[in-house]
Amino acid sequence: MALATATIDFSALQSNLARVKELAPNSQVMAVLKANAYGHGLVKIAQRLADADAFAVARIEEALALRTGGITKPIVLLEGFFKASDIEIMLANNFQTIVHDEYQLAALEQANLSGCIKVWLKVDTGMHRLGIEPRQFDAFYSRLKHCPNVCDDVQLMTHFACADDLSNSYTDKQLTTFFALVNNKPEALCLANSAAIINYPQSHGQWVRPGLMMYGVSPVQGRVSQDLGLEPVMSLKSEVIAVRHVRQGELVGYGGHWQADKDTQLAVVAIGYGDGYPRHADNGTPVLINGQRYPLVGRVSMDMITVDIGADNRSVAVGDEALMWGRELAIEEIAERANTIAYELLCNITPRVSYEYLG
Ligand SMILES: *Cc1c(COP(=O)(O)O)cnc(C)c1O
Repeated sequence: MALATATIDFSALQSNLARVKELAPNSQVMAVLKANAYGHGLVKIAQRLADADAFAVARIEEALALRTGGITKPIVLLEGFFKASDIEIMLANNFQTIVHDEYQLAALEQANLSGCIKVWLKVDTGMHRLGIEPRQFDAFYSRLKHCPNVCDDVQLMTHFACADDLSNSYTDKQLTTFFALVNNKPEALCLANSAAIINYPQSHGQWVRPGLMMYGVSPVQGRVSQDLGLEPVMSLKSEVIAVRHVRQGELVGYGGHWQADKDTQLAVVAIGYGDGYPRHADNGTPVLINGQRYPLVGRVSMDMITVDIGADNRSVAVGDEALMWGRELAIEEIAERANTIAYELLCNITPRVSYEYLG
């Protein structure tokens, strides 16, 4: 039996997708599956998202893995293609591409194709990562519309930098910039990531691009998933492999990072940064053993963590289940204790962890 296990709850996934549709009832859903579906299992997750209208990934290899897995829905490459030789692959596999730069547009214009590629023109409205500048919009739009290798229905998109924070007016600026450009265009618009789906209904457009919220994690600062009607999809679990005493004053783990201030017992749990549990989780990070919260103490090792279960505890034994995050223990809380974000924790699950799919 495997120790570290990620249990994936398909009914939670479906309920979260239904929640996206409830929040954005007039939009089609491009479900974001990059980075192994945020650590949940690329093909398995895609198979269970029959109600999504399209999928989105960051790399052509991820898109090809979906096709190899038998997935037939449209797939959008969120960063577009990186070399001209990818264009034939996109055409053959019904991939759609973002265009964010001149080199991509030029490659599309120079290609000699037997069909057309569906394009999403990405405008940089303030993220300053990928996207054409607003002043380039008219030229790009017209060249795409005239390019025979590009399908007629060019879609228009942008991406928000601060949509997770409603008190930040930057998103309003991005919205104003975008809508000023696309004002009279008949094309479908796509702006919203998870945070904007929740915080900015005016950004929904014809398409939305949910990632994190589909996996049941809050994308919004200061809100937990339950408040938003989302259900955590992943539970990360392992087992207690030792229960031992430590005396007052003894040091625990690498660097002697924690010292017992009284006699107590430790449960040693078989999970560590070699499984993707964050090394930076600090003393006091909660771990659930048999449904009870206990504090992690000492450094997270590659293969183990140590948990203070108290001197008088008779209820924890070798073989008991320990939960790192899931429905009863919010990953948002663990991320905060580890000074990171839930996105990173999910993506960091390593191949040593086994997957179990429910429902
Ligand atoms: C990852 C990504 C998304 C999804 O973001 P979430 O915050 O996970 O909802 C949407 N759009 C683009 C361009 C992305 O790269």
